[in-house]
Amino acid sequence: MNEFEAGRPVVLRGGTVLPMDGRRVLTRTDVLVTGDRIAAVGPELEAPEGAAEIDASGGIVMPGMIDTHRHMWQTVMRGYGADWTLTQYFVWYYLEHGKLFRPEDVHAGNTLAAIEALDAGVTTVVDWSHGLRTPDHADAAADALQAVPGRYVLAYGNIQQPPAEWTAAPEFRDFVRRRVTGDDLLGFQIAFDVTGDPSFPERPAFEVARELGATVTTHAGVWGATSDDGIRLMYDHGFMTPGTIYVHAASLSADSYHRIAATGGSISVSTESEQSAGQGYPPTWAIRAHGIPVSLSMDTSVWWSGDLFSAMRTTLGADRSREHLEAHAKGETVTHCALRADQVVDWATRGGARAIGRDDLGTIEPGKKADLVLIKNDASPVSFPLLNPFGHVAFQAQRGDVHTVLVNGRVVKHEHRLLGVDLAAVRAQADSTIEYLKGAMGEEAWEKGMNPDIPSAKVLDNPYTYTDYRSDATHRL
Ligand SMILES: [Zn+2]
Repeated sequence: MNEFEAGRPVVLRGGTVLPMDGRRVLTRTDVLVTGDRIAAVGPELEAPEGAAEIDASGGIVMPGMIDTHRHMWQTVMRGYGADWTLTQYFVWYYLEHGKLFRPEDVHAGNTLAAIEALDAGVTTVVDWSHGLRTPDHADAAADALQAVPGRYVLAYGNIQQPPAEWTAAPEFRDFVRRRVTGDDLLGFQIAFDVTGDPSFPERPAFEVARELGATVTTHAGVWGATSDDGIRLMYDHGFMTPGTIYVHAASLSADSYHRIAATGGSISVSTESEQSAGQGYPPTWAIRAHGIPVSLSMDTSVWWSGDLFSAMRTTLGADRSREHLEAHAKGETVTHCALRADQVVDWATRGGARAIGRDDLGTIEPGKKADLVLIKNDASPVSFPLLNPFGHVAFQAQRGDVHTVLVNGRVVKHEHRLLGVDLAAVRAQADSTIEYLKGAMGEEAWEKGMNPDIPSAKVLDNPYTYTDYRSDATHRL
């Protein structure tokens, strides 16, 4: 029996609550959930008869985290591309093997990614789904998202065709009519990139998005792929509209940042991705000065895990690292960090909610949707002392510390265990996709894809080797 049956009120008792309405921290505070909403926040709340009680003491209650850009279909190849650059990624997914994905493979990836997100306290994910080569692929993506009790936004894309083409296809319209039905747990965006071609071939796709009232999300400022040219074209043609999400924006000029700031767009920063893949330096240090709203994202689990603790941690690290380096280059010393832990927690919650246009998410206030995370792990020596809750979330906590997760008022994880998830079935689905992909590619291509050649490198001559202490030591032995 599920002790958290639908409709049963839930009260989280005595936690340290981060309402995310500033730097406020509420200690020994209860959060009451009735239906799909937060009903009350305060000390020793009276709960309705029959409410499920969850002991949150010693833990942190925060809003569910929101990832604004993840290619969920790729999760079925978790970790395969750990040593890739963006070049290997492009070759693998776009030019060669990504084309092998069948609808059931997209389904397997999306299912695994969706479950993984919930497990890590990521209650909303924008599925930047650019492998939708056919309507069957799109249906498989949507089916997977709707079968898992999280909140998702399907950002529809198709890397194998020009955006003007697939957005004009009758089957795309048909998909929108059938599947974009205002489901509160499944939103919709349109996902494509702007190449910078002066003839602006993406115009018809922007027009379709405008007609459908759909947000456009676009990889912008990706070294070697998209640049200031794309931003300028969007601006000149009137398509830099409020709500547009610019992913990465890591190699753009100040002029492009001005245009994004002035037109009400936001930037989805994937620090862990930018650090490894090479889109450009993670941009928060540069865009803070422009006042551009920021959200966080993981990009793809073909390299990285899908938890936003890593996003918060790496974003703080990259931002501070750059700030120190910029100062050192001028012979100066940074004595006070500009980017604070509470800011990255804000970007991982309220920032994501704003980016996707959901002001009913991202904070803990009465009336808001009950997407909540309890971080609590009494068995862990890292769970105490709990002195600086924002710092604790950003630098100490990890997915194993996610004790309870609620989405839309429903408890989907409790006492560190996902509820109602048949992991064995999900694993079987993933196994069958991997078996198929390996078979279709051949063992050799599979191994080669996972292990890119290492550029030749010579160990530098070391001027301090005038004494060979190693051989000397060996000698004495
Ligand atoms: Zn991406």
